[in-house]
Amino acid sequence: MQIGDNHHLYIGGCDAVELAKSYGTPLIVYDEKLIRTTIQAFHEVFRRAGVPYQISYASKAFCTMAMCQLVYQEGCGIDVVSGGELYTALESGVPASAIHLHGNNKTPDELGFAVDVGIGAIIVDNFFEIALLQDIAAKSNRIVDVLIRVAPGVEAHTHEFIATGGQDSKFGFDLASDQAHMALRQLADAENLRCVGLHSHIGSQIFDVDGFVVAVERLADLYQYGVRELDLPLTVLNVGGGFGIRYTDEDAPPVAETLSAIIAATRQTFEARELDFPTLWIEPGRSIAGPAGTTLYQIGSQKRIPGIRNYLAVDGGMTDNPRLALYGAKYHAVYANRADAEPEDTWSVAGKCCESGDMLIWDAELPNPKPDDILAVFATGAYNYSMASHYNRIPKPAVVFARDGVATVVVERETWSDLIRKDRRLADL
Ligand SMILES: *Cc1c(COP(=O)(O)O)cnc(C)c1O
Repeated sequence: MQIGDNHHLYIGGCDAVELAKSYGTPLIVYDEKLIRTTIQAFHEVFRRAGVPYQISYASKAFCTMAMCQLVYQEGCGIDVVSGGELYTALESGVPASAIHLHGNNKTPDELGFAVDVGIGAIIVDNFFEIALLQDIAAKSNRIVDVLIRVAPGVEAHTHEFIATGGQDSKFGFDLASDQAHMALRQLADAENLRCVGLHSHIGSQIFDVDGFVVAVERLADLYQYGVRELDLPLTVLNVGGGFGIRYTDEDAPPVAETLSAIIAATRQTFEARELDFPTLWIEPGRSIAGPAGTTLYQIGSQKRIPGIRNYLAVDGGMTDNPRLALYGAKYHAVYANRADAEPEDTWSVAGKCCESGDMLIWDAELPNPKPDDILAVFATGAYNYSMASHYNRIPKPAVVFARDGVATVVVERETWSDLIRKDRRLADL
């Protein structure tokens, strides 16, 4: 956290209080340089290890045209999970060949769109999709590069992983029951599909690297089967994303350590099987976008319920950040206009939606609020704006990128008229 002589919070060299004044609240501010340096640090680990790799930004964390442009400029590919994300990435100018399509139920239209534009790869998820995609690719007379998503039986949560879990999932081909092997056999026979790799994504906000290591070991056996028994042109081992970040006071392991362990495990397991080192592919979303985002809110109503709790309400809430309501996410916050003020009491930060679960932080330690206070909630860059809704017909906030003291609007604030743009009045009333 950067604090100026005026005690204001600074983001990307910009005074957060001035940003709130200029662009209104709620406002999501990204530290553009932090996004860039985070990606550069990923590159650095692979370069130092001297292994072939690809970093593909999981755009669902925060998918706007400016973000797609930025991460592509920093040498990332882009993962998309819908036609809308694919359209956004393409419109931003990212070439189709750098984009990869995921999802457990891609529609025929989405697959057709992806094939038509010449997408880099499609990560096929189930047998239904193999047949559908083969049909679509054949009709447009294309050969499509695919990876298969494998459910390796590893389920990772923040601090632990379960090596036998993860089988009961809507995503991917189950490894234990040989469905993944069967998928590879089907792909070997699918004339318009070229299976170039294996993929797994074992969870999100993962702190324990061992889950990745077990997944790599299990995927290596399948990889060996594909290369040796089926003669598939496999070159890619994609271990997904899920690298954990710091939200409050947790100590997230440095991503360099996690990546190094994944690289070492890949080296060891592939060497043991006398397989060439694959192109190691990762798909970070949260770790790129999350820490770089801060949401600014204007403080509003307050109430103290004696002996129970103090509530402090802001001019946003679950409409711009549903993560507490969805999965109990925790956040740290300060007042941007007096960022170094000492906490005075415990305040629970509520949104303005008509829903008791519309909370941003339970029991935050904060100074007692004053009318001009601007609340800054940190690490709101991933799965916030991308999960925003219009509940209560609240317009979506504006988003700015701040860099070297200059702010650039990358998403305009919605207006009330935007909210009714697709509404149609009944004709006869
Ligand atoms: C969501 C997702 C990611 C990114 O996960 P993060 O936790 O944001 O890093 C990567 N790969 C796939 C397939 C995903 O669904």
